[in-house]
Amino acid sequence: MTPDKTQVLVIEDEAPIRCFLRAYLESQGFRFIEAENGEEGLGLAASHQPAIILLDLGLPGMDGLEVIRRIREWTNTPLIVLSARGKEQDKIDALDAGADDYLIKPFGVGELAARMRVALRHTAGTGTDKPEPVFRVGDLMVDLAARRVHLAGAEVHLTPIEFKLLAFLVRHSGKVVTHRQLLKEVWGSTREDQAHYPRIYVHQLRHKIEQDPARPRFLRTETGIGYRLEEADGSEVMGN
Ligand code: CA
Repeated sequence: MTPDKTQVLVIEDEAPIRCFLRAYLESQGFRFIEAENGEEGLGLAASHQPAIILLDLGLPGMDGLEVIRRIREWTNTPLIVLSARGKEQDKIDALDAGADDYLIKPFGVGELAARMRVALRHTAGTGTDKPEPVFRVGDLMVDLAARRVHLAGAEVHLTPIEFKLLAFLVRHSGKVVTHRQLLKEVWGSTREDQAHYPRIYVHQLRHKIEQDPARPRFLRTETGIGYRLEEADGSEVMGN
């Protein structure tokens, strides 16, 4: 079976939440399939290959974290965690296991729709229809191909590691990235004694790309978890 561009799989043990999500997502043009535990969810993910997966962490039987790890063994399908577990470590564990994003219950449908759009855009963006992107948000422009960065029309000079960090954030814009992901992807390291690198380099980067580094508009902190670079302007037209 080929992936269905409009199908969403919800793995959630609470029937009222499944019911609520079904009503909302069908109103948004998604086709809805559901599972009430992890084993069933894994089966549906494989047999239906949905466009996106929404996953509750607290499930009977197999835990949601294990579901993420199993899914990531064979597919990069966007996966957003919906959970009542609001602790930072829970979010970090889910993101490190391969979730694309994380919403704490209760959440607004507007926020859910925005996060789904971002997650879907990241898979859609891997096609051949788009050239190497020039990323724009506010007065920040990042040309990944030319390795050029401008702020309010003036060229910004970045060190190679600063550029690598910014490029990674651009490729994941709109999504939260964890400290560990940055350390691994930008520095190629998982060493605990280097765990402070992202914080130091984000600080440096903000002084170059933010008008007011103390109140960043583009490169936001997700407290205790990592960072989120704002979505590019106009990217909502590429959603769904
Ligand atoms: Ca639950």
